Amino acid sequence: MKVKVAVNGYGTIGKRVADAVVRQPDMTLVGIAKTRPSFEARRAVERGYPIFLAGSGSRPEFEQAGLPVAGTIDELIGLADIVVDSAPEKVGKENAKKYRDAGVRAIFQGGEKSDVAEMSFNALANYDRAGEKRTVRVVSCNTTGLARAASVVVPHWGVQHWEATIVRRAADPSESDRGPINGIMPTFHLPSHHGPDVRTIFPDLSIATTAVVVPTTLMHVHVNHVRMARPPPDAQHVIDRFRRTPRFHIFAPWEHVDGTPQVMEFARDRPNGRPDMMENVLWEAGVRVDGEDLYFFQAIHQESIVVPENIDAIRAMFGLAPDAEASMAITDAALGIPHP
Ligand code: NAD
Repeated sequence: MKVKVAVNGYGTIGKRVADAVVRQPDMTLVGIAKTRPSFEARRAVERGYPIFLAGSGSRPEFEQAGLPVAGTIDELIGLADIVVDSAPEKVGKENAKKYRDAGVRAIFQGGEKSDVAEMSFNALANYDRAGEKRTVRVVSCNTTGLARAASVVVPHWGVQHWEATIVRRAADPSESDRGPINGIMPTFHLPSHHGPDVRTIFPDLSIATTAVVVPTTLMHVHVNHVRMARPPPDAQHVIDRFRRTPRFHIFAPWEHVDGTPQVMEFARDRPNGRPDMMENVLWEAGVRVDGEDLYFFQAIHQESIVVPENIDAIRAMFGLAPDAEASMAITDAALGIPHP
């Protein structure tokens, strides 16, 4: 039996999660909810996804645009085993009451505070804890990237202390109303909120993060400095370990990937699916071990990194796979992510 999934909020994250759900062998998409007609709503119709009215959505507005409406968000919730809420940040918290009243399970995104759900989720870090949970929050793009990396570093080399500077993209590519378009903007919330968010998954991790926003839409980059407890002999050990872990992609020097422009071009050249980069991206040349200090850069594709995590969260909540590795293997095969 396939788990029936509804997606409420069909923007950057929601449309990707919907496309990912329809590719899974053990899930079916019962519909998506949108507030207003848009090119994305048109694509949803073209792909055969039933559209339901979310929030303030008006049926005549959709119908005048030639987009059929299958019902209301309440009707969509009634058809679903689980709702993936991908509404704008803080709206998920408002929607939570609806899901609770309907007795339906729900997944929220990282724009919500952690108390929106019973747990914060990352497949590599805590898949097993999501079994039987009725509400789960998939952490934000940056927190997902850091939690994946911590899932490798913490068990293998231990962490005395982790410092990460997050070089944040200013906007998603389709957001024409955000900036800066020229400038480097420090985040004066010191340390930044990302460290505490990582601790919703690794409560004992000593981590401090800072952030600056830069005028690009092509990924975030994390500059990591980890003081390890049990350092490996050299950087090659670290590179090999990351390479053998699902959801990491490591570029070799001969590939001439100098930064995020080439990473996203590599993603556009992938043979199937969306031109997305759902893995943490590392560079061999960007990993260094110096005594007990580990340095590494990683790039995070903000629009897509959480997509496989949403799929694994569904599988974990319904016990559809025996463990994290099995779930990630199914997800990755369905989404065309190379799996080591
Ligand atoms: P988005 O603005 O691209 O999409 C949100 C969609 O929800 C829009 O289509 C909007 O019209 C719709 N919406 C508005 N009100 C609604 C309501 N009441 N009910 C249902 N839908 C409603 O936003 P996004 O970037 O996809 O972000 C969604 C969530 O994912 C946020 O919590 C965000 O923090 C998180 N997130 C975003 C990114 C990213 O980089 N874009 C990365 C990771 C996590």
